[in-house]
Amino acid sequence: MKIALTFDIERDIPNFLDTDFGVKIGLIKILSLLDNFQIKGTFFCTGTVVEQQPRVVHLIESKGHEIACHSLNHERLNELTFEECKEIISNNKVMIENKCKNSEVIGFRAPYLKPPKFLFRLLNDLGFKYDSSISSRKKSLYYQMKNYKIQEFHPSSYYTFFRLPLSFYFIRKWIFKKELTILYFHSWEAIDIKRLILNQKSKLNLVKNYLFRLDRWINTGDLFITRIRKFIKEALSKKAEFVTLKQLTTIK
Ligand SMILES: [Zn+2]
Repeated sequence: MKIALTFDIERDIPNFLDTDFGVKIGLIKILSLLDNFQIKGTFFCTGTVVEQQPRVVHLIESKGHEIACHSLNHERLNELTFEECKEIISNNKVMIENKCKNSEVIGFRAPYLKPPKFLFRLLNDLGFKYDSSISSRKKSLYYQMKNYKIQEFHPSSYYTFFRLPLSFYFIRKWIFKKELTILYFHSWEAIDIKRLILNQKSKLNLVKNYLFRLDRWINTGDLFITRIRKFIKEALSKKAEFVTLKQLTTIK
């Protein structure tokens, strides 16, 4: 049984909050958790994070984790043209490679898990080796994949699995029966999003984010870290192997 822990490193809930506590504080908690178990993860970083928080990217690299691309400013790539997407993704790649001289960047994940239809052609042009944007639920929508030398690692469909009531119990049982699971999380899940939302000045934001989007804040912060810790412990006791996506890539 192989498990890949993957994390999107971006500003807190793009398009809803305008803070970066997840990158400054949440990520540190995630890194020290992985350190405790001596396991490596894959971190998809936006260009904004790379530019504004370069020490964060160095820290991820220095711990031996994999760094991959996640656009510049969390754009909705499925609404952009081929050329626009190409510029965004290639800039993101160059930014990371300039900061991380020891890391070859070969992986990509589209923001919101909403890649454009031409993604594989584009990634192929830019020298990537894998993508992890197409959730297992949406596999059938992306039929153009086969013609390009890009490997797809389907991330789990819902990132809230570990935080919603009851699902944490059931999802573990399901994961432990599978040969390979790619879990995806965000740096901001490791901070108390409820507190951030309740501090918002705009009443409209409060209603939109608090009342209607339970998934955005429930059990974020320390409880999220506690649950991942519990999951890792249990997985290791069942002889699971934690891997990065780069380790799984077979395309040379
Ligand atoms: Zn994202």
